[in-house]
Amino acid sequence: MRRWNGWGDDATSMELNDNARAMMAERLGPGHPAKDAVRDAIIAQIPVSRLVGAHPLIQTDASTRFAMALGESFGDWIRKRFGALPPVPDGVAFAESTEQVRELLDLAHAKNWMVIPFAGGTSVAGHLDCPISERPILSLNLSRMNRLLHLDKQSQLATFGAGTPGPQVEAQLRAQGYTLGHFPQSFEYSTVGGWVVTRSSGQQSLRYGRIEQLFAGGRMESPVGTLVIPSLPAASAGPDLRELVMGSEGRFGVLTEATVRVTPLPEHESFHAIFLPNWDAAEAAVRTLVQRKLPLSMMRLSNGIETETNLTLAGHAKLIGWMERYLALRGCGSGKCMLMLGVTADKGTARHALKEARRTLAEFGAVYIGPAMGSKWAANRFKGPYLRNPLWDEGYSADTIETAVDWPNVKTLMLAMEQASRDVFAQYGERVHAFTHLSHIYPQGSSIYSQFVWATAPGGFAPNFERWQKLKAAVAKTIADHGGTVSHQHGVGRDHATQLHVEKGPLGMATLAELCRHFDPKKIMNPGKLLQDEGPWAQ
Ligand SMILES: Cc1cc2nc3c(=O)[nH]c(=O)nc-3n(C[C@H](O)[C@H](O)[C@H](O)COP(=O)(O)OP(=O)(O)OC[C@H]3O[C@@H](n4cnc5c(N)ncnc54)[C@H](O)[C@@H]3O)c2cc1C
Repeated sequence: MRRWNGWGDDATSMELNDNARAMMAERLGPGHPAKDAVRDAIIAQIPVSRLVGAHPLIQTDASTRFAMALGESFGDWIRKRFGALPPVPDGVAFAESTEQVRELLDLAHAKNWMVIPFAGGTSVAGHLDCPISERPILSLNLSRMNRLLHLDKQSQLATFGAGTPGPQVEAQLRAQGYTLGHFPQSFEYSTVGGWVVTRSSGQQSLRYGRIEQLFAGGRMESPVGTLVIPSLPAASAGPDLRELVMGSEGRFGVLTEATVRVTPLPEHESFHAIFLPNWDAAEAAVRTLVQRKLPLSMMRLSNGIETETNLTLAGHAKLIGWMERYLALRGCGSGKCMLMLGVTADKGTARHALKEARRTLAEFGAVYIGPAMGSKWAANRFKGPYLRNPLWDEGYSADTIETAVDWPNVKTLMLAMEQASRDVFAQYGERVHAFTHLSHIYPQGSSIYSQFVWATAPGGFAPNFERWQKLKAAVAKTIADHGGTVSHQHGVGRDHATQLHVEKGPLGMATLAELCRHFDPKKIMNPGKLLQDEGPWAQ
């Protein structure tokens, strides 16, 4: 069963090994384990629903409403852990078809309720937060719209119910010899519709593309009508209306069906760990590689601190120690950077791509250590976030912040993001362990994905929320100052809405507001997300 106040399925656990514990204690000082709130006690505080008896599809019991109240951001995490209850939806409707979505939207529009679409619930940007409002709030849950509706093998197009989660997307396609190839780290729970409306990126985007390249068309029910976007191979028929759906974050309507471009299952797939002597060599190497346009499926480059952290977390200290001595002899000592390389293709292409990649990387001092670590990475590719659970139990908090920027600014921005976090915690006389990787690498530039671990503050929700808000604000300002995007893959939601104007400008923001008014004149759809046009919010 899915954990209610932590990441993932409660049948899967990760443990911190002794070296990882020692590393945290050395870098951050002792952790401060916090006492978890009891779920039943939180639920007992939930006020009576304003939607009791409103429609047969709408459930109003407190337990179901609480389960839809929050996503997976750090702010959401500490609300659950400390029992700091925000407003929760008044009702939850589990729609099973486009017709039911249409009926519920018409009702909400007529009655002036707010509607928050809820799919996998994996948002890390406050997309699912409920404002404090006089209007009743309906959570429109899409998890029952989870089937492959049509597969056109000739055109390699598959149409899914928008609430289909990653494992069911892949299982239904694999049964017929196909894959979508979209593997965000939240794959276990996030859905095809959620990916589209938040502009998601999967680990093998280098081969399969981001969701923008995979989304061919679909059907969106908005308060004022239905938008059907046909899936065409290409069109010069004016602006592409798919762009209105991608990144719309539930503001314009509910995507009920998504047609995506699929690929026959690959003949060969393997992942390989390669070490480079230092950041400058590593960055130049991956830039050269991506600009050569070799048919690789993934490049994930960890900086020196992340490499050290990952090797510590991996356990097997003896084996890793032996490997590190060997790497040092070959010029990859302290400050070395690990590159995880994915090769997905037919056997001949894969052999050629790996050979050529290794030849290019060798020019930058790379040392290849064979496929064993890569296979281990692949086996655990969705497990990383599970480490947040034992970290929290040991008294440490963790969050991630990501962006993308052109090559000349990649290193400067990466260092500035890490430094901004250190400056925030220094104000409290505390430390933060910050480390970064580049996970989506483009000829023009790269995404930058930084992770932050710090000792949970004693004193409950308020001091922890304050530190997190300061961390987010300082890093967001640093990103804006360096010309980075508000988000490369997590979307805007409520948490990043304050910064969006920097990227879009006044006319761009006015255009987005006008589109919201056009599709949703009564502002019932997920207000306050993407644009700062709703509130107040719980503090
Ligand atoms: C541990 C972890 C790892 C992650 N890794 C990645 C990653 O590698 N890459 C990445 O891109 N993201 C990642 N994310 C972020 C998150 O998984 C994505 O934003 C994902 O696309 C959200 O999909 P979801 O189905 O969970 O949507 P939800 O969280 O349920 O909803 C997100 C937003 O979309 C709206 N929405 C959802 N479905 C619809 C629909 N059908 N129609 C209209 N509106 C809708 C909701 O109202 C909400 O505003 C990660 C998150 C976590 C917690």
